[in-house]
Amino acid sequence: MANPTPSYPIGTPGQAWGAAEVAAWRSAQVPRRSYEVDVLSAIERLRPRFDVVQYGKLDYAPDSYPVFALRSRPWREELPTVLVTGGVHGYETSGVHGALQFLDRDAAGYDGRANLLVAPCVSPWAYERIHRWNAHAIDPNRSFREDSPAPESAALMRLLAPLQGRILMHIDLHETTDSDESEFRPALAARDGKDYEPGEIPDGFYLVDDSDNPQPEFQQAVIDAVARVTHIAPADARGEIIGSKVFSPGVIRYAFKPLGLCAGMTGARYTTTTEVYPDSPHASPQQCNDAQAAAVRAAIDFALARPV
Ligand SMILES: [Zn+2]
Repeated sequence: MANPTPSYPIGTPGQAWGAAEVAAWRSAQVPRRSYEVDVLSAIERLRPRFDVVQYGKLDYAPDSYPVFALRSRPWREELPTVLVTGGVHGYETSGVHGALQFLDRDAAGYDGRANLLVAPCVSPWAYERIHRWNAHAIDPNRSFREDSPAPESAALMRLLAPLQGRILMHIDLHETTDSDESEFRPALAARDGKDYEPGEIPDGFYLVDDSDNPQPEFQQAVIDAVARVTHIAPADARGEIIGSKVFSPGVIRYAFKPLGLCAGMTGARYTTTTEVYPDSPHASPQQCNDAQAAAVRAAIDFALARPV
């Protein structure tokens, strides 16, 4: 019988990583695609239609990454503000390109109805290396908290601090990939000196609602829109998706703020995290981007129709 617990190539089983292990891990991460070519060039093409704000610069010598948000132009104080974030996990490609696609194809439809604020690629170092963590082996999506250890999260929180209490809806765009089970969960267990417990990757799209602020009708509206583009993940035999109870088809809940999740950062009335499944034989990259953009549109439409 095969050992059910694959050992991760870095570190000593049962011992959390120190600086040497993090350095060894980091040296094994090499750029596999270009933030400049894929993302910054797309932002440049959008620049004539939006205000482009550089909200930080991430220094990972010898590389450095400016990070950008795009805002409706004009920005009108009397309109509701909605927030879209992508690439908090850099490897989750359709989060980045779905946000950019939404800006290109759909954003104009909200002119005069909402202020849009879109940060399409929060973690560019990881975008290039197709990884979940930043260069310090820290998950930005567990780091949206005071004195954040992740500069990616801290920069976005600084951008949004003046808008606290004024954001109606926030949708954070993610993917759940087969590599979560083959690489990232084993790496997490190794980093923290814990045993790796195998899990199942759901086949299909799902949403994460906030257990401290559940909005089932809002989640349902997003699920209904995405179901027209791609399939929704079924619950497993235990009535769960990825170890969490399914409250309605394709919807699970996490406690956003205590976990330091991006979608808990603003305190918005309507919040959700999308989870596109890109590894399905039935889902092309374009379909994944379409699913993200459909989720964004449905989320904004619901929030604008039923403001607080
Ligand atoms: Zn993610």
